[in-house]
Amino acid sequence: MDHTMKVRELTYQNRKGRIAMMSTPLNLYGIFDYSQKMWPEKWIITRTREGTHRYQYREFGSRVKKLSSALKSLGVKPQDRVATVAWNNFRHLEAYYAIPLMGAVLHTVNLRLSSDHLLYIINHAQDQVLLIDEELLPILEPIQDKLPTVQHLIVMGEHPDLSKTPMAVWAYEDLLADAVPMNYDPDLPENTPLGMCYTSATTGNPKGVVYSHRGIVLHAMAMGLANTSAISEQDRVLPVVPMFHANAWGLPFSSIWFGADIVLPGPAPTSEDLVRLMSQEQVSVAAGVPTVWFGVAKVLEEHPTPLSLRMVLCGGSAAPPALIQTFEKTFHIPFAHAYGMTETSPLATFSRLKSTLADLGEDDQLAIRSTQGLLVPGLFMRLTSNNREVPWDAHSMGELWLKGPWVADEYYHDARTPDSFENGWLKTGDVATISPEGYVRLVDRTKDLVKSGGEWISSVDLENAIMAHPDVFEAAVIGVPHPKWDERPLAFVVAKDNRKLHKADILALLAENFPKWWLPDDVIFLREIPKSSVGKFLKRALREQYHHYLSESSQEPADG
Ligand code: ADP
Repeated sequence: MDHTMKVRELTYQNRKGRIAMMSTPLNLYGIFDYSQKMWPEKWIITRTREGTHRYQYREFGSRVKKLSSALKSLGVKPQDRVATVAWNNFRHLEAYYAIPLMGAVLHTVNLRLSSDHLLYIINHAQDQVLLIDEELLPILEPIQDKLPTVQHLIVMGEHPDLSKTPMAVWAYEDLLADAVPMNYDPDLPENTPLGMCYTSATTGNPKGVVYSHRGIVLHAMAMGLANTSAISEQDRVLPVVPMFHANAWGLPFSSIWFGADIVLPGPAPTSEDLVRLMSQEQVSVAAGVPTVWFGVAKVLEEHPTPLSLRMVLCGGSAAPPALIQTFEKTFHIPFAHAYGMTETSPLATFSRLKSTLADLGEDDQLAIRSTQGLLVPGLFMRLTSNNREVPWDAHSMGELWLKGPWVADEYYHDARTPDSFENGWLKTGDVATISPEGYVRLVDRTKDLVKSGGEWISSVDLENAIMAHPDVFEAAVIGVPHPKWDERPLAFVVAKDNRKLHKADILALLAENFPKWWLPDDVIFLREIPKSSVGKFLKRALREQYHHYLSESSQEPADG
């Protein structure tokens, strides 16, 4: 045997018969243990109805361990599903850790779902225990008799009134008061399920996604990269994005791991609440969907307030360039655009300007930064059209396919899995282009693209252009059936307070940037665009309501 062979053997197989490095599992214990040792003095701050609740990581950790043992004493075993129905608050954060650390599965329930969907997902996941904020108890009322798997209800609040509740019910704080802290297994296998979340269904029932410990740890790491949000111990992080939606973008995991203070907005925060909280608590990173930032921008325009934000993190729907500009130019707050899905834990792409593009003019830079951005390290992507890979030339469109260690590879017990997964890839249902530099630009969701006379019209491009109008607050574009062209676009516009806007203003603006056949057949002024359970434009509602708008000849176009 020559020398090189020997070295190779030594390198690739050590004396325990393993490859060269330790196979320490990537599990939540690693995050929790590290955090408790490194950052016991860091803060978790929650806005409550009464004021503000504050405590340090040290106390958080001991309450987490008590919650796990309380759950165990109620009979929760590894792999059992424990659901949370809660706002972003410290008790919810405790559940985020206590449930997976004991090997059980954290099912974050979207509290804004309809009763039918709530019933469906709790029963489909077969949740055994439900932790619920006291003030959210009423949403259980219509379904409480139809949840056969739920054995215990734990009510989270200071002094909850338990007389009004159904089934076997416990007060969260009483359970913790009597509990002995649990010791965790550091070797919990990394492929153990950690949690699950159902997508907010636009059609049919919600689909369940199961997250593994490994996926969540790697995703948390990715959120800390300098190429993405660079969360660190220097930050105070405000997840406005609900903890019931795609793990609040993983911020509860990365913030605790990297030692950032966490600021939680509590029950139903308004834009004013958010501005106050960001100012009082000197938040440095705040994350939410575009509608959150439209609202915050309005408050800041009316009441300029000094903030210490180093980054607004915006995703979940396309961030219009005009919104980015308002934050950066008017408020001097850096604005980052990211893209992801429940199925991708969620972070998949993040928009930052490459240093090699720094010489571009301001407009070109903005155009690049308004794209969904570059693929996050650790993931793979491709564009597919008619089963062929589409070139990265910034023009060719295809469906974006993703894979990687924090991407789901199936829906939980769901016959719809084959529709969205193929050959190890997740088919996102998003139509995109990719530039030669790697910037992903989402053209539309497949189902939102407008098909007119055999050609595609991007509703997102039209919306972005309309929202660049200084008097527009928000806008949505949908395709509706048309007798001649198959579908034609209709625009819905909400004007800023008391501003007068007309259809002709909007069409003139669009005519500057788009061919004539892209222009909406009508512009309808609304007081508000309907929103989904997670604050995105609910185009389905508009499509249902305006389905016949262009096919009924008696219909007179509306004007502002
Ligand atoms: P739901 O499907 O329940 O709305 P998700 O958060 O999983 O919840 O939605 C993911 C979808 O949201 C993506 O497939 C994409 O269509 C859209 N999306 C997310 N982020 C962006 C973004 N930055 N720009 C445009 N669309 C986005």
